[in-house]
Order: sequence, then C-alpha cells, then structure tokens
Amino acid sequence: MIRTHNCGELRLSEKGAKVCLEGWVQKIRDKGGMLWIDLRDRYGITQLIMEEGKTQDDILAKARGIGREYVIRTTGVVVERVSKNDKIPTGDIEIAVEGLSILNEAKVPPFLIEGETDGGEELRMKYRYLDLRREPVRKNLELRHKLMNATRNYLSGKDFIEIETPVLIKSTPEGARDFVVPSRINKGEFYALPQSPQTFKQLLMVAGFDRYFQIVKCFRDEDLRADRQPEFTQIDCEMSFVEREDVLQMFEGLVRYLFKEIKQIDLQPFQRMEYEDAIKLYGSDKPDLRFGMQFLELNEVVKGKGFNVFDSAELVVGIAVPGAAEYSRKQLDELTEFVRRPQIGAQGLVYVKLNNDGTIKSSVDKFYNQDDLRSWASEFGANDGDLLLILAGEQKRTRFALSELRLELGSRLGLRPNDKFVPLWVLDFPLLEWDEETERYHAMHHPFTSPKSEDLNQLASSPGEVRANAYDMVVNGVELGGGSIRIHERRIQQQMFDALGMSDSEAEDQFGFLLNAFEYGAPPHGGIAFGFDRICAMFGGSESIRDYIAFPKNNAGRDIMINTPSQISDEQLDDLDLTLKSDEK
Ligand code: ASP
Repeated sequence: MIRTHNCGELRLSEKGAKVCLEGWVQKIRDKGGMLWIDLRDRYGITQLIMEEGKTQDDILAKARGIGREYVIRTTGVVVERVSKNDKIPTGDIEIAVEGLSILNEAKVPPFLIEGETDGGEELRMKYRYLDLRREPVRKNLELRHKLMNATRNYLSGKDFIEIETPVLIKSTPEGARDFVVPSRINKGEFYALPQSPQTFKQLLMVAGFDRYFQIVKCFRDEDLRADRQPEFTQIDCEMSFVEREDVLQMFEGLVRYLFKEIKQIDLQPFQRMEYEDAIKLYGSDKPDLRFGMQFLELNEVVKGKGFNVFDSAELVVGIAVPGAAEYSRKQLDELTEFVRRPQIGAQGLVYVKLNNDGTIKSSVDKFYNQDDLRSWASEFGANDGDLLLILAGEQKRTRFALSELRLELGSRLGLRPNDKFVPLWVLDFPLLEWDEETERYHAMHHPFTSPKSEDLNQLASSPGEVRANAYDMVVNGVELGGGSIRIHERRIQQQMFDALGMSDSEAEDQFGFLLNAFEYGAPPHGGIAFGFDRICAMFGGSESIRDYIAFPKNNAGRDIMINTPSQISDEQLDDLDLTLKSDEK
C-alpha cells in the first residue's frame, strides 16, 4: 500500500478507515506502554499511536529505533482520540498503527524543525531544505505561489500575454551594476544578466504584442540590504496605445485584485500625490500614509530671534506628534539620539511640549517666549497635549532625517499596524537627477522614460526642471512598483541620451537596436514593474523579502548552502581566456 491520504486531511468522518500515510517524523513520545509519533508532510501533522499489548511487538521495536526526520510509511486504522488537540485540524483522530516501514533514515537535524526553531539564520540557510520543512517558511512559499497564480489570472484575463525575454543580454552603463557572464565562443566578450527586461518589453510593443507581462528574474550587482537580493523577481508589464491614466487604472486593478483574492481585503481607493508634495510633506518619495504628522516648514516663523541653529539653516521643518507632550526627558533624549545616529545624520532635535495645562515648555526657551511658541503651535494646528519636533539644516538631509523620525514615532505610537494598507501613486518624478560624483545627469527612473509633454521643450535648456511621465506605487511606505510612459520616437530618445551626456556614437553602440526599432512604427506605450518579492513580504506581514524566496542569498551575496560564488577551474578559465592575478587565486 502506498499513501492513501496526506498528513493534513483525516477527520472524525474517516473513523474506522484503513489508511496509509507517509511523511517525516516530527516528534516521538515514548511513555513505556504507549508510544506516539507526530507524522508531518506538506499538508499537516497526524498523530500515530502504538500501544503495548495492542500493537505488534516487532512494530513497537521498530518504532523505538526511529529518530526525528526519518521518512516512514505507516498503515493503520483511523481512531477517535481520547484527548483531542484543537490546535491542529487532524486533532480529533489518530492512527492506530498496524504496519510501519522506514523509507529512509535521517541524521539528527541541526535545529528544531518546528514553528519556533532554535536554529540561527546562517545555520538555517546552510540547511535551507530543512528550514523549508518548517510550517511558517513553507506557508511563505505557498503564499508566493498563490500571488503568482492570481497575478497570472488577472493579467491573462485582461489580454496580457506572458513572454519570456533572454537572460543573457548586453551590458549597458545605465542603472545599477551588471552581473556579467564571459562568452567562451566569443573570447574576450561578455553577456550581462538583465537588470530588467526593459528594452525587450518595449521591442515587444514595437512587435505589436500590445499587452505583455512576465514574472521574471532580474539581477543587480548592488550592496545588499534586508529588502534586496542580487537576484529578485519582478512582475514586469507593458501596454501599447495607452496614456498614464490607463496604466494607473490597470495596475491599481491588479493590486486591488491581489488584496481581495489573497487577503479578502477591499483596498481603499489609491491616493495620488506629486513627487514634489511627497518630498515637502513627508520628506520621502514613498510616504507611509497610514498616519498623518505632515511636515510643516517654519523658516518664516522661527528666524530672527537670535537662535543661530535656526537662523543659519537652509530649512527649519517640524512635525506635531499627537498626544506626545507627556514624553519624559528620557524619551526625548532617545529621540535626540535617534536623529543623531550617523545613518540619520541630524545635529540635534528641538522640542516644544504643548502641555495639557496650557503651558509650553521647549528646549529653546532661551530664545523664544511663550507667545512665539504658541504661534508655532497654531501654524501646526496643534493642540494641547501635542509635541512639536523640529529639525534644521541643509534641505535634503533635514527632510530625510525628519522623515525617519516621523516613521519612528509612527511605530512607537502604534500608528503603523501591519493589517492596515494605504495605497498611493506618486506621480511626476523629476526626469533627471544631477550626480555630483560624475558631474552629469542621470535618469531618475531610466533613460526610456518620457518627459511630460508640457516639459519637453525644456529638455535642452533646463534639464533639471523637466518632469517625467513616471509613477511609483507605494503601499505603507514601501515602493511596490514603478513605471512610466515611454519615449517612442527616435528623435526624442536621442535628445534624452543627449541630456544624459551620451555621445551619438555611444548611444548608437549601446542602444542602436532600440533607436532603429523606433523607426519602424513604434506605438505609444508605457508600463510598470512590481517587486514581486516585496509584494509577497507585504502580504505575509514581514519586512524581509528573504523569507519569501526558496533559496535566498545571505548579506554577503552568498548562497552558503551550495557555497557560491566559488572559484572555477584553470581549464574553465583557459576556455574563457580569463586569467586571474596570481594573488587572487
Ligand atoms: N524596468 C523598470 C524597472 O525595473 C520598470 C519599468 O519602467 O517598467 O524599474
């Protein structure tokens, strides 16, 4: 007999049935006269019971030789449990064992394979196949699968077709660093792994496919963080004959569908905000709108009272924290420490407590009287009981620091619950960004993004002012996706390369194929790509995308299970005509 049921499906209704189960031994309890085994597979856990006098002696003896994670097959009868376990779906029954075979032995696993494990991160990565046996990790991958399925359903239902684009492509200087692959047949030449299928999906529009998508691996050789992996997955999409509004509607629809299908949540309507406002009001192009605390700029009201920190600052900006006037000295010190951390980078923090009794206490009482402070409070529209927190300094850094402080306070005050979702489109990004290091403009999104038509005439004269027809989808302060309406005319694409400081011959060399394609009837088109791993993490309520990837890399970009990256043999190097400097060998 091979298995008749999985380990998650038997109920009281099957009482009396003769069944066969196969799986892994999660736990054995031997109480002398009685012996229980928890048998686990992907679907759940079922309890097996053996009893001296009832179960055959040779089976009992065999069971006593079994260890954790052995793979076994058992036959037996479904019986009702005396003491039921309401924590698992099969908890009303157990299997009275009549036959038992060991299909494979297992070494003692290096960590507990249970919901809560004692294994550290590195150890679990090394034995990822064991970690994947744990229910929470398996559930994450099940969630990923469901999201993938639902995505394909929605997009296929809207006439999108999934088309694979190549993985061995051409290295280009734009964007992040490429991973490269040496070519053996073409010695001295290299492929690059795609950072995204951007140019290919545009070529598919030129080819007339009209609506394309692909759930696709992308590769970027960047420094790693919790929400970054060198290889990650995008839901990559492109549409022809559309304007921005069409794209926004279509993909608002996708995300709304995913929330409904997977989480049974009716997402609230998407808010929309221009990039400039996002920066001014939240100090970030991906504001978390689960809570308020908008920025208020105070330059006009605070200057000229002899407080040099404010008087000399490019920007004085603050937030009103509701109900936090009662913060203690210690709590305020903690916040000051927080903003002074090198990764936040502020010099100090000014506070104003609007006490409930109507008095005001601030850290700048020396320079400002009660009337001054009261006028600040009224600018904020703040109430008694609120706490004003104010930073000053260079614009960009000060906004960044206040944005981090705002998020920190949001968390401290419980205003960022992970079962509340507030979606937002951020619109009208700048097209170009000045890079101090290389002293030239970079495309903020990518060089194929169309300028807004009303700004196009400024592209040559004041490139820094031009806004892009680009959009990001942000949910709870996480950028889930971004895209743009594209350039589809050769002339404008060339102007764009120009603005990026690319010579005609460089542009021809790097992107000649695209420029040529634009001369053969390229339709207007636009699209978006979502970070699929991030969507999984958000739906699963986690910060780390790694938990949603079957075999992720660690912080150093290594897969410590298969131990890669690794050296290759001298023969391989010879084949590729590559030599390493001797000290690197
Ligand atoms: N290819 C872009 C990216 O990877 C997304 C897009 O513009 O569709 O960010």
